[in-house]
Amino acid sequence: MANQAKRIAELIEPLRVEPGSRVDLAKDFDPRYKRRGLKKKHGRELLETGIALLADYQRRLAAQNTYGVLLCLQALDAGGKDGTIRHVMSGVNPQGVHVSSFKVPSSEELDHDYLWRYACRLPARGDIGIFNRSHYEEVLVVRVHQENLDRQRLPESAKSGKLWHRRYREINEWERYLTDNGFKIVKLFLNLSKEEQRTRFLRRIDRPDRNWKFSSADVRERKFWDDYQKAFSEMLSATSTEHAPWYVIPADRKWFGRICAAAVLAHTLIEIDPQYPTVSDERRLDLLAVRRELEDEAPEGAERDPYAAGHGKKRKA
Ligand code: AMP
Ligand code: MG
Repeated sequence: MANQAKRIAELIEPLRVEPGSRVDLAKDFDPRYKRRGLKKKHGRELLETGIALLADYQRRLAAQNTYGVLLCLQALDAGGKDGTIRHVMSGVNPQGVHVSSFKVPSSEELDHDYLWRYACRLPARGDIGIFNRSHYEEVLVVRVHQENLDRQRLPESAKSGKLWHRRYREINEWERYLTDNGFKIVKLFLNLSKEEQRTRFLRRIDRPDRNWKFSSADVRERKFWDDYQKAFSEMLSATSTEHAPWYVIPADRKWFGRICAAAVLAHTLIEIDPQYPTVSDERRLDLLAVRRELEDEAPEGAERDPYAAGHGKKRKA
Protein backbone atom coordinates (compact mmCIF):
# COMPACT_ATOMS: atom_id res chain seq x y z
CA MET A 1 0.00 0.00 0.00
CA ALA A 2 2.77 2.42 0.97
CA ASN A 3 4.50 1.41 -2.25
CA GLN A 4 1.40 2.15 -4.28
CA ALA A 5 1.00 5.55 -2.61
CA LYS A 6 4.62 6.34 -3.45
CA ARG A 7 4.18 5.35 -7.11
CA ILE A 8 1.09 7.55 -7.38
CA ALA A 9 2.91 10.50 -5.78
CA GLU A 10 5.80 10.07 -8.25
CA LEU A 11 3.48 9.88 -11.24
CA ILE A 12 1.72 13.15 -10.45
CA GLU A 13 4.69 15.14 -9.17
CA PRO A 14 5.66 16.53 -12.62
CA LEU A 15 2.07 17.70 -13.16
CA ARG A 16 1.82 19.77 -10.00
CA VAL A 17 2.03 23.53 -10.31
CA GLU A 18 4.49 24.61 -7.66
CA PRO A 19 2.71 27.20 -5.47
CA GLY A 20 4.19 30.63 -6.07
CA SER A 21 5.77 29.72 -9.42
CA ARG A 22 5.02 31.67 -12.60
CA VAL A 23 3.53 29.42 -15.22
CA ASP A 24 3.85 29.90 -18.95
CA LEU A 25 1.62 27.10 -20.14
CA ALA A 26 3.09 26.77 -23.61
CA LYS A 27 6.64 26.51 -22.26
CA ASP A 28 6.13 24.64 -19.02
CA PHE A 29 3.60 21.92 -19.81
CA ASP A 30 3.48 19.66 -22.86
CA PRO A 31 -0.04 18.42 -23.77
CA ARG A 32 1.60 15.28 -25.20
CA TYR A 33 3.65 14.50 -22.11
CA LYS A 34 3.60 10.86 -21.10
CA ARG A 35 5.48 8.94 -18.49
CA ARG A 36 8.56 7.41 -20.15
CA GLY A 37 8.15 3.79 -21.10
CA LEU A 38 4.45 3.55 -20.29
CA LYS A 39 2.47 1.89 -23.07
CA LYS A 40 -1.25 2.22 -23.70
CA LYS A 41 -1.67 -1.53 -23.15
CA HIS A 42 -0.30 -1.30 -19.59
CA GLY A 43 -2.11 1.97 -19.12
CA ARG A 44 -5.46 0.21 -19.20
CA GLU A 45 -4.43 -2.07 -16.31
CA LEU A 46 -3.11 0.89 -14.39
CA LEU A 47 -6.39 2.78 -14.80
CA GLU A 48 -8.34 -0.28 -13.63
CA THR A 49 -6.16 -0.44 -10.52
CA GLY A 50 -6.72 3.26 -9.93
CA ILE A 51 -10.49 2.93 -10.32
CA ALA A 52 -10.63 0.05 -7.82
CA LEU A 53 -8.53 2.06 -5.39
CA LEU A 54 -10.87 5.04 -5.70
CA ALA A 55 -13.91 2.85 -5.07
CA ASP A 56 -12.38 1.53 -1.86
CA TYR A 57 -11.40 4.98 -0.61
CA GLN A 58 -14.75 6.47 -1.51
CA ARG A 59 -16.53 3.86 0.66
CA ARG A 60 -14.32 4.79 3.57
CA LEU A 61 -14.77 8.51 2.94
CA ALA A 62 -18.55 8.04 3.09
CA ALA A 63 -18.38 5.85 6.20
CA GLN A 64 -16.14 8.27 8.08
CA ASN A 65 -18.33 11.22 7.11
CA THR A 66 -15.78 13.81 8.21
CA TYR A 67 -14.13 14.98 5.00
CA GLY A 68 -15.57 15.93 1.62
CA VAL A 69 -13.67 16.16 -1.65
CA LEU A 70 -14.26 18.66 -4.43
CA LEU A 71 -12.80 17.83 -7.84
CA CYS A 72 -12.68 20.85 -10.18
CA LEU A 73 -12.21 20.19 -13.88
CA GLN A 74 -11.21 22.93 -16.26
CA ALA A 75 -10.37 22.62 -19.94
CA LEU A 76 -11.00 24.14 -23.31
CA ASP A 77 -13.74 22.62 -25.46
CA ALA A 78 -13.00 18.99 -26.40
CA GLY A 79 -10.43 18.82 -23.61
CA GLY A 80 -11.98 15.61 -22.30
CA LYS A 81 -13.82 16.65 -19.13
CA ASP A 82 -16.85 14.43 -19.74
CA GLY A 83 -14.78 11.36 -20.64
CA THR A 84 -12.54 11.88 -17.63
CA ILE A 85 -15.55 11.91 -15.31
CA ARG A 86 -17.07 8.87 -17.00
CA HIS A 87 -13.92 6.77 -16.79
CA VAL A 88 -12.36 7.87 -13.54
CA MET A 89 -15.57 7.63 -11.54
CA SER A 90 -16.80 4.43 -13.19
CA GLY A 91 -16.11 2.27 -10.13
CA VAL A 92 -17.50 4.42 -7.37
CA ASN A 93 -20.92 4.25 -5.77
CA PRO A 94 -23.09 6.85 -7.55
CA GLN A 95 -24.69 7.76 -4.22
CA GLY A 96 -21.42 9.23 -3.01
CA VAL A 97 -20.66 11.34 -6.06
CA HIS A 98 -22.41 14.46 -7.35
CA VAL A 99 -21.51 16.06 -10.65
CA SER A 100 -22.39 19.72 -11.27
CA SER A 101 -21.91 21.26 -14.71
CA PHE A 102 -21.69 25.01 -14.94
CA LYS A 103 -22.97 26.78 -18.03
CA VAL A 104 -23.71 30.41 -18.86
CA PRO A 105 -25.15 31.79 -15.60
CA SER A 106 -28.90 32.23 -15.27
CA SER A 107 -30.44 35.57 -14.31
CA GLU A 108 -31.01 34.25 -10.81
CA GLU A 109 -27.35 33.30 -10.54
CA LEU A 110 -26.31 36.72 -11.85
CA ASP A 111 -28.35 38.31 -9.07
CA HIS A 112 -25.89 36.90 -6.53
CA ASP A 113 -22.19 37.27 -5.81
CA TYR A 114 -20.06 35.40 -8.33
CA LEU A 115 -19.17 32.47 -6.07
CA TRP A 116 -22.76 31.85 -4.96
CA ARG A 117 -23.79 29.28 -7.53
CA TYR A 118 -20.64 27.22 -6.88
CA ALA A 119 -21.15 27.38 -3.12
CA CYS A 120 -24.67 25.98 -3.61
CA ARG A 121 -23.20 22.84 -5.18
CA LEU A 122 -20.43 22.03 -2.73
CA PRO A 123 -20.17 18.40 -1.62
CA ALA A 124 -21.33 17.32 1.82
CA ARG A 125 -19.01 15.51 4.22
CA GLY A 126 -18.42 11.96 3.01
CA ASP A 127 -19.13 12.94 -0.60
CA ILE A 128 -17.07 13.57 -3.70
CA GLY A 129 -18.36 16.58 -5.63
CA ILE A 130 -17.27 17.10 -9.20
CA PHE A 131 -17.38 20.49 -10.85
CA ASN A 132 -17.51 20.12 -14.63
CA ARG A 133 -16.26 23.68 -15.19
CA SER A 134 -16.01 25.51 -11.92
CA HIS A 135 -15.62 28.84 -10.16
CA TYR A 136 -12.48 29.23 -12.27
CA GLU A 137 -14.68 30.20 -15.22
CA GLU A 138 -14.99 33.49 -13.32
CA VAL A 139 -11.36 34.28 -14.17
CA LEU A 140 -11.37 32.52 -17.56
CA VAL A 141 -14.36 32.96 -19.86
CA VAL A 142 -15.44 36.03 -17.89
CA ARG A 143 -11.99 37.50 -18.38
CA VAL A 144 -11.65 36.61 -22.06
CA HIS A 145 -15.14 37.94 -22.87
CA GLN A 146 -15.71 41.08 -20.84
CA GLU A 147 -19.41 41.20 -21.70
CA ASN A 148 -19.83 38.37 -19.17
CA LEU A 149 -18.51 40.72 -16.55
CA ASP A 150 -20.91 43.48 -17.57
CA ARG A 151 -23.80 41.06 -17.07
CA GLN A 152 -22.72 40.51 -13.46
CA ARG A 153 -23.94 44.00 -12.52
CA LEU A 154 -21.09 44.66 -10.13
CA PRO A 155 -20.86 47.97 -8.31
CA GLU A 156 -18.16 50.33 -9.65
CA SER A 157 -15.97 49.68 -6.61
CA ALA A 158 -15.83 45.96 -7.43
CA LYS A 159 -14.82 46.61 -11.03
CA SER A 160 -12.08 49.13 -10.41
CA GLY A 161 -8.45 48.37 -9.64
CA LYS A 162 -6.91 44.97 -10.08
CA LEU A 163 -10.14 43.05 -10.58
CA TRP A 164 -8.59 39.72 -11.61
CA HIS A 165 -6.02 39.74 -8.84
CA ARG A 166 -8.76 40.43 -6.38
CA ARG A 167 -10.71 37.45 -7.71
CA TYR A 168 -7.65 35.18 -7.44
CA ARG A 169 -7.27 36.24 -3.83
CA GLU A 170 -10.95 35.73 -3.07
CA ILE A 171 -10.91 32.27 -4.66
CA ASN A 172 -7.77 31.32 -2.72
CA GLU A 173 -9.35 32.48 0.52
CA TRP A 174 -12.59 30.63 -0.19
CA GLU A 175 -10.68 27.42 -0.92
CA ARG A 176 -8.57 27.92 2.19
CA TYR A 177 -11.72 28.22 4.28
CA LEU A 178 -13.17 25.04 2.76
CA THR A 179 -9.93 23.10 3.19
CA ASP A 180 -9.60 24.19 6.83
CA ASN A 181 -13.10 22.87 7.43
CA GLY A 182 -12.52 19.41 5.99
CA PHE A 183 -13.22 19.87 2.28
CA LYS A 184 -10.22 18.98 0.17
CA ILE A 185 -10.02 20.57 -3.24
CA VAL A 186 -8.51 18.81 -6.23
CA LYS A 187 -7.95 21.02 -9.27
CA LEU A 188 -7.27 19.54 -12.68
CA PHE A 189 -6.56 21.52 -15.78
CA LEU A 190 -6.81 19.31 -18.88
CA ASN A 191 -4.14 20.72 -21.14
CA LEU A 192 -5.03 20.18 -24.79
CA SER A 193 -2.99 21.28 -27.84
CA LYS A 194 -4.59 23.42 -30.50
CA GLU A 195 -3.98 20.75 -33.12
CA GLU A 196 -5.56 17.98 -31.04
CA GLN A 197 -8.60 20.20 -30.46
CA ARG A 198 -8.93 20.64 -34.22
CA THR A 199 -8.78 16.88 -34.73
CA ARG A 200 -11.41 16.25 -32.07
CA PHE A 201 -13.74 18.87 -33.57
CA LEU A 202 -13.40 17.17 -36.95
CA ARG A 203 -14.34 13.86 -35.38
CA ARG A 204 -17.36 15.44 -33.73
CA ILE A 205 -18.52 16.73 -37.09
CA ASP A 206 -17.98 13.42 -38.88
CA ARG A 207 -19.56 11.09 -36.38
CA PRO A 208 -23.35 11.37 -36.09
CA ASP A 209 -23.19 10.12 -32.52
CA ARG A 210 -20.83 12.98 -31.68
CA ASN A 211 -22.66 15.77 -33.49
CA TRP A 212 -24.55 16.74 -30.36
CA LYS A 213 -21.26 17.54 -28.70
CA PHE A 214 -20.28 20.02 -31.34
CA SER A 215 -21.39 23.60 -31.39
CA SER A 216 -20.33 26.27 -33.87
CA ALA A 217 -19.66 28.45 -30.86
CA ASP A 218 -16.78 26.11 -30.01
CA VAL A 219 -15.04 27.06 -33.24
CA ARG A 220 -15.62 30.74 -32.51
CA GLU A 221 -14.07 30.24 -29.06
CA ARG A 222 -11.05 28.65 -30.72
CA LYS A 223 -10.20 32.03 -32.24
CA PHE A 224 -9.53 33.24 -28.69
CA TRP A 225 -6.97 30.47 -28.11
CA ASP A 226 -4.11 32.79 -27.18
CA ASP A 227 -6.26 34.84 -24.81
CA TYR A 228 -7.30 31.63 -23.07
CA GLN A 229 -3.72 30.37 -22.83
CA LYS A 230 -2.76 33.62 -21.14
CA ALA A 231 -5.75 33.49 -18.78
CA PHE A 232 -4.93 29.85 -17.93
CA SER A 233 -1.28 30.67 -17.28
CA GLU A 234 -2.16 33.52 -14.93
CA MET A 235 -4.81 31.50 -13.17
CA LEU A 236 -2.41 28.59 -12.60
CA SER A 237 0.29 30.98 -11.32
CA ALA A 238 -2.00 32.83 -8.93
CA THR A 239 -4.20 30.05 -7.57
CA SER A 240 -1.96 27.02 -7.13
CA THR A 241 -1.60 26.97 -3.36
CA GLU A 242 -0.25 24.56 -0.75
CA HIS A 243 -3.79 23.77 0.40
CA ALA A 244 -5.25 23.44 -3.11
CA PRO A 245 -2.58 23.00 -5.81
CA TRP A 246 -3.33 22.79 -9.52
CA TYR A 247 -2.34 19.78 -11.59
CA VAL A 248 -1.87 20.20 -15.33
CA ILE A 249 -3.06 17.00 -16.97
CA PRO A 250 -1.57 16.26 -20.39
CA ALA A 251 -4.78 15.79 -22.39
CA ASP A 252 -3.72 14.96 -25.94
CA ARG A 253 -3.56 11.26 -25.11
CA LYS A 254 -6.87 10.55 -23.48
CA TRP A 255 -5.78 7.26 -21.94
CA PHE A 256 -2.79 8.82 -20.17
CA GLY A 257 -4.75 11.88 -19.08
CA ARG A 258 -7.33 9.67 -17.40
CA ILE A 259 -4.66 7.75 -15.52
CA CYS A 260 -3.24 11.04 -14.28
CA ALA A 261 -6.66 12.37 -13.24
CA ALA A 262 -7.40 9.16 -11.31
CA ALA A 263 -3.96 9.33 -9.72
CA VAL A 264 -4.38 12.91 -8.46
CA LEU A 265 -7.75 12.07 -6.93
CA ALA A 266 -6.36 8.87 -5.41
CA HIS A 267 -3.43 10.83 -3.98
CA THR A 268 -5.82 13.21 -2.23
CA LEU A 269 -7.86 10.35 -0.78
CA ILE A 270 -4.72 8.56 0.37
CA GLU A 271 -3.66 11.75 2.16
CA ILE A 272 -7.04 12.00 3.86
CA ASP A 273 -6.79 8.27 4.73
CA PRO A 274 -10.43 7.92 5.78
CA GLN A 275 -11.21 5.11 8.22
CA TYR A 276 -14.31 3.08 8.94
CA PRO A 277 -15.65 4.17 12.31
CA THR A 278 -14.64 1.77 15.07
CA VAL A 279 -17.23 0.33 17.39
CA SER A 280 -16.80 0.77 21.16
CA ASP A 281 -16.84 -2.26 23.49
CA GLU A 282 -20.14 -1.07 24.88
CA ARG A 283 -21.69 -0.84 21.42
CA ARG A 284 -20.32 -4.28 20.55
CA LEU A 285 -22.11 -5.74 23.61
CA ASP A 286 -25.34 -4.00 22.55
CA LEU A 287 -25.03 -5.49 19.08
CA LEU A 288 -24.49 -8.98 20.48
CA ALA A 289 -27.61 -8.64 22.66
CA VAL A 290 -29.68 -7.62 19.63
CA ARG A 291 -28.20 -10.53 17.76
CA ARG A 292 -29.41 -12.98 20.38
CA GLU A 293 -32.89 -11.47 20.26
CA LEU A 294 -33.02 -11.94 16.49
CA GLU A 295 -31.85 -15.53 16.85
CA ASP A 296 -34.59 -16.17 19.39
CA GLU A 297 -37.13 -14.99 16.82
CA ALA A 298 -36.30 -17.89 14.48
CA PRO A 299 -39.55 -19.64 13.44
CA GLU A 300 -40.13 -23.36 14.02
CA GLY A 301 -37.72 -25.44 11.99
CA ALA A 302 -35.55 -22.51 10.89
CA GLU A 303 -31.88 -22.15 11.80
CA ARG A 304 -31.18 -19.63 14.53
CA ASP A 305 -28.69 -18.02 12.08
CA PRO A 306 -29.12 -19.19 8.48
CA TYR A 307 -25.89 -17.51 7.38
CA ALA A 308 -23.80 -19.20 10.03
CA ALA A 309 -25.46 -22.51 9.03
CA GLY A 310 -24.47 -21.84 5.40
CA HIS A 311 -28.05 -21.36 4.19
CA GLY A 312 -27.87 -17.62 3.77
CA LYS A 313 -25.84 -17.71 0.61
CA LYS A 314 -28.06 -20.28 -1.03
CA ARG A 315 -31.18 -18.28 -0.29
CA LYS A 316 -29.59 -15.11 -1.60
CA ALA A 317 -28.73 -16.79 -4.89
P1 AMP B 1 -20.53 23.28 -22.24
O1 AMP B 1 -19.61 22.99 -21.10
O2 AMP B 1 -19.99 22.87 -23.58
O3 AMP B 1 -21.92 22.79 -22.01
O4 AMP B 1 -20.66 24.87 -22.36
C1 AMP B 1 -20.94 25.66 -21.28
C2 AMP B 1 -20.70 27.09 -21.68
O5 AMP B 1 -20.96 27.92 -20.57
C3 AMP B 1 -19.28 27.36 -22.13
O6 AMP B 1 -19.27 28.04 -23.35
C4 AMP B 1 -18.72 28.25 -21.01
O7 AMP B 1 -17.80 29.18 -21.49
C5 AMP B 1 -19.98 28.92 -20.49
N1 AMP B 1 -19.81 29.35 -19.11
C6 AMP B 1 -19.52 28.59 -18.03
N2 AMP B 1 -19.41 29.36 -16.92
C7 AMP B 1 -19.61 30.63 -17.31
C8 AMP B 1 -19.62 31.87 -16.62
N3 AMP B 1 -19.39 31.96 -15.32
N4 AMP B 1 -19.87 32.98 -17.35
C9 AMP B 1 -20.11 32.90 -18.67
N5 AMP B 1 -20.12 31.77 -19.37
C10 AMP B 1 -19.87 30.64 -18.70
MG1 MG C 1 -19.16 22.70 -25.33
